[in-house]
Amino acid sequence: MTNIISIVHKQLKRASTKASFNDNLLNILSKPMNEIKVNFPVKINNEVKIFSGYRIQHNNFLGPFKGGLRFSNHVSSNEVSALAQWMTYKCTLLDIPFGGAKGGLKIETEDYTKEELEMITRKFTQSLFPYIGSNKDIPAPDVNTNSQTMDWMTDEYNIISGNHHLTCNMKSIFTGKSMNNGGSHVREESTGRGVALMIKEWAKKNNYNLQGKKYIVQGFGKVGYRACEVLSTYGMNLVAVADHTCYLYLKEGFNVFNLRDHINENKVLKGYEHGEEISKEEFFKINCNVIIPSALELQIDENIAKDINCDLIVEAANGPIDNEAELILEDKNIPIIPDILANSGGVLVSYYEWLQNKRDEYWEESYIRDRFDKKMEDTFEKIYKISIKYDCTLRDASYIYSLGRLESNYLSRN
Ligand code: NAD
Repeated sequence: MTNIISIVHKQLKRASTKASFNDNLLNILSKPMNEIKVNFPVKINNEVKIFSGYRIQHNNFLGPFKGGLRFSNHVSSNEVSALAQWMTYKCTLLDIPFGGAKGGLKIETEDYTKEELEMITRKFTQSLFPYIGSNKDIPAPDVNTNSQTMDWMTDEYNIISGNHHLTCNMKSIFTGKSMNNGGSHVREESTGRGVALMIKEWAKKNNYNLQGKKYIVQGFGKVGYRACEVLSTYGMNLVAVADHTCYLYLKEGFNVFNLRDHINENKVLKGYEHGEEISKEEFFKINCNVIIPSALELQIDENIAKDINCDLIVEAANGPIDNEAELILEDKNIPIIPDILANSGGVLVSYYEWLQNKRDEYWEESYIRDRFDKKMEDTFEKIYKISIKYDCTLRDASYIYSLGRLESNYLSRN
């Protein structure tokens, strides 16, 4: 099994052979600044259960730590550490004043009722309380967490702080909240929208007509679904889709909105009335134009990569392709829009949400969407130019940009 942290290290090492960076900086970035592990008890049905959670704070040279919290049985400090490090580069890539962090709670969410999840989430917030804050570390949703999770955490943080009402300062501790609790328009769709915009920008640069192009999506959650929603407006055709319960193929293409309705009603993809059930291996072998992994890390290894046949892969998920698979895909001339660029839209709108909260402002939906689209397009352009200048991949170019900014900051202080 590939060690996920080694993927980040190899990606960094590779980028730093294309452009040179200060060795001390690279050394500092190789380890997170803080690794917090909490174990806390929760009494459920008269039985005390101990839950374990992590918050890994990788780097805060450019601003407070920032990153999602995921609830999953697979959470480990290694996984969270890699995700925290990617957050540092993602925020730097966008030129937003945040560092990188990530958190996770080891839990099988399906085993608990909504009331129990609320209780566990509130206890987790109590354990994290000393380590987070609007100028210290700002969590957000990730896998299996959502605006409800952030609302509970915000409320609990507020209670612990002894406030009677939600002040601007309290609102700005978590992002990805509901609109009723200081959330922002566009946050929910932001990551998926950003993924789709990156495909559009890549297509423009390559004179590639997206109309009628076939794509497949692994993971139909907050990110995957929202990306499909926008891609359907480009006239693209979703021919295969997957979640943790099954992989489905439909030659004529799925109706994205019917799929969403099915998942809203049944929670899982399995049981959807259209499409033929296939294996994961068959899914990635499908001859299509664009592949969008938007579930979890380490989904494409060398065995899967050797059978992939497409024009473009877009990493909506963090770290879905391991280093060996990436080399195979490069040999096959299949370009990859890397995670730290492709899925950076989420943290961009989190930044807008934080700014609105801090300033006690309300930004209109159309204003945010226009600002967001322009920023994502400009970011793609900036990274694309670097990839031409250094004759390197978009992943190398993304790291070159981020490391360059971190280096300028580091050298100015040392
Ligand atoms: P989510 O929980 O809303 O959805 C995850 C989806 O992946 C679900 O459809 C789930 O069934 C599916 N899935 C899980 N395990 C799977 C497996 N083994 N095989 C196939 N499908 C599987 O999570 P999300 O927020 O959509 O996040 C998806 C990815 O995007 C993660 O890598 C996350 O870190 C990354 N990401 C999310 C955001 C965000 O704003 N939510 C931002 C940046 C990156």
